[in-house]
Amino acid sequence: MLIDSHAHLDFEEYGTDLSAVIERARAAGLVRIVLIGQWREGSSMDGAAAAIELAKREPQMFSATAGIHPHDAAQATAEDLVELERLCSDTGVVAVGECGLDYHYDRSPREVQRERFALQLRLAKKLGKPVVIHTREADLDTAEILQAELGPDGGVVHCFTSDWAAAQRYLSLGLHLSFSGVLTFKTADAVRDAAARAPLDRLLVETDCPFLTPVPHRGKRNEPAFVKLTAARLAEVRGISLAEVEQATTANARRVLRLPG
Ligand SMILES: [Zn+2]
Ligand SMILES: [Zn+2]
Repeated sequence: MLIDSHAHLDFEEYGTDLSAVIERARAAGLVRIVLIGQWREGSSMDGAAAAIELAKREPQMFSATAGIHPHDAAQATAEDLVELERLCSDTGVVAVGECGLDYHYDRSPREVQRERFALQLRLAKKLGKPVVIHTREADLDTAEILQAELGPDGGVVHCFTSDWAAAQRYLSLGLHLSFSGVLTFKTADAVRDAAARAPLDRLLVETDCPFLTPVPHRGKRNEPAFVKLTAARLAEVRGISLAEVEQATTANARRVLRLPG
């Protein structure tokens, strides 16, 4: 029993075999996949609407979010922000995001990233929903903005790839940490150290597919079924059984994102 807490199944990588991908996810024991709806180049907020529609077609298996990624922060217009609020108000949308800061790629000016991130945190607070946070090479600014703007419904730092010091900052804000295939990468000792030390009741697993494919499939397209490899590595890192990891991460995802059981 597993939940992939972060997947991009509306991406063109799944254009021809999505139903087979979903079948393999079920066969691997997945009980739910959270689809991250986001502003997309060419389709703006309709990109998020596509993920939400996919979730509505199969509500037993999918939940959806809607947000503006830091990469796209500068391209999103005032109209897009109005549309984002409309989409996030939908009862079928479980969280606002992914939103946050990405100082690795710097595809939008940092100041604009910070402003759009704060705005989405305020939207989540207003709607009473949790947030899905993307942060890369920006832990200090991310924590500072969260300190000021995070609402009582909390959220998830998705694809956590930092160290224990950063993890502690997010945990002290009441946030959950979601681990991706990066946990299986050879060079990810600092990530594994954080995964070993964080409280079990704050951990989630995800694929962030089609990206970040776990070992031993690295280099191939990622898909939700592979979340099991990340869960297995998490079990190994913590010295507990895979069943315990499955049970805890599924319960945690359901609680923080208020997913149907
Ligand atoms: Zn992300
Ligand atoms: Zn993502």
